[in-house]
Amino acid sequence: MEILYRSTRGSRDIASASAAMLNGLAPDGGLYVPDHLPHLEKSWTELAQMSYHGIAYEVMRPFLADFSEKELKACIRAAYDKKFDTPQIAPITKADGRYFLELWHGSTMAFKDMALSILPYLMANAAHKQNEEREIVILTATSGDTGKAALAGFADVPGTKIIVFYPKDGVSPIQEKQMVTQEGENVLVVGINGNFDDAQNGVKALFTDEAERERMNRNMLRFSSANSINIGRLVPQIAYYIAAYAGMLREGEIGNGYKINICVPTGNFGNILAAYYAQWMGLPVNRLICASNSNKVLFDFFKTGTYDRNREFITTQSPSMDILISSNLERLIYHATGDSAEKCGALMHQLSRDGRYDISREMAKELTYFSAGYATEEECGKEIRTLFEDTGYLIDTHTAVGAAVHRKYVKETGDDTATLIASTASPYKFPRAVWNALQGRALADRTQDAEDEQLAEQLSKMSGMPLPEPFLQLKRARVRHKGVCEKDGMRAEVERFLGL
Ligand SMILES: *Cc1c(COP(=O)(O)O)cnc(C)c1O
Repeated sequence: MEILYRSTRGSRDIASASAAMLNGLAPDGGLYVPDHLPHLEKSWTELAQMSYHGIAYEVMRPFLADFSEKELKACIRAAYDKKFDTPQIAPITKADGRYFLELWHGSTMAFKDMALSILPYLMANAAHKQNEEREIVILTATSGDTGKAALAGFADVPGTKIIVFYPKDGVSPIQEKQMVTQEGENVLVVGINGNFDDAQNGVKALFTDEAERERMNRNMLRFSSANSINIGRLVPQIAYYIAAYAGMLREGEIGNGYKINICVPTGNFGNILAAYYAQWMGLPVNRLICASNSNKVLFDFFKTGTYDRNREFITTQSPSMDILISSNLERLIYHATGDSAEKCGALMHQLSRDGRYDISREMAKELTYFSAGYATEEECGKEIRTLFEDTGYLIDTHTAVGAAVHRKYVKETGDDTATLIASTASPYKFPRAVWNALQGRALADRTQDAEDEQLAEQLSKMSGMPLPEPFLQLKRARVRHKGVCEKDGMRAEVERFLGL
């Protein structure tokens, strides 16, 4: 049976994969969810013999029912190519008895590449299928990682343009340099004098402006979004969990059918939701461990059954996880209600009205295979240092949240199940915090030993882990985007770029 997509909030509209991808959000504001979850058709013995590309195809095919074999295979080939510095695409490193699934071997050195390398190709195909003749204009506000990954993915993809706004003083020096050096004829990057919320609000205003849409229409253009609620980002993420298990089998690390734990440093709940879907497809899982930093809204949720965003926002050194509303959790909530859009919609309505909701006891029962934990900045720093001293393996601040939470989990439960930890960024992407951790300083310490780039070089010498190619390229790269605008100047920037 073909998978179709429904809204988590109850609209009766049913969308094909390509329509769901182009729309991003369902018309009623809900998220698109698959109407059933497929089971893997190939056996684990077969999967263990397959390449990353082959496995990605097996996993994604049922979710993208209106894509032909030829189309999907071409998307996978174009996405997971030399942009990744290893043919394994998502290799595993074993350190301290734990399995680190490295999702940062793509062009921006963080896990968003896993989905954003393929999304542009999926979207271009989806547009064709939907007889969309307008050009797709991806409009994004970013606090750092997503912007660059989207730029790298969409650069020079025919039929698309991409515009990224970032807070001029709100991203790290490496993140900013990554964005403003982006090449491609179809890209625009602009810093704004404001914070991330200002950028986000400006983007939303453009999306919802009728007059703007009309003008776009007349010029054969259509806005679309690449944010993490798009099913075109979720589906490719399921593949690396399946590939990881197949790889562990192939290497003889586990026996066929052995149930592993998967621990994921979590922000918007996209990455761990993909692991949950992988489990439904047949991945043997004992526990899914949801790891939070000091913004521990998810930890509290799993512990108490109450989601409450009314709390202080804490800035940490794992910024991609500094989130109080985890958008993708809505999909898990929907499944926990037994796929009731009515119940899910009511809870989400409460969330936007009161900033909180409580789930029922029955729903909580559906979530029992999740464990949750959180790690403070201090615990993360200690984890980076301990792991490096014990094994010589260096991890970044986000991965450290996962590793520290897992360490605490083992201590509390005695559960020694083989555990896959999602490693979501290269340590060289956050060199100052990692350096501080090794010195035993606070992660956010501002002592200026050296520039970020030099610290990364130091770290590479100490660990023997080579600097990734994108990092070396960055040193030589030329700044191509110097635009800066005020909060209320975003529209003018967009219109000038698009020739409206
Ligand atoms: C986005 C991101 C995360 C959080 O992933 P979610 O899917 O939002 O839970 C963790 N680490 C890094 C480095 C990221 O960029």
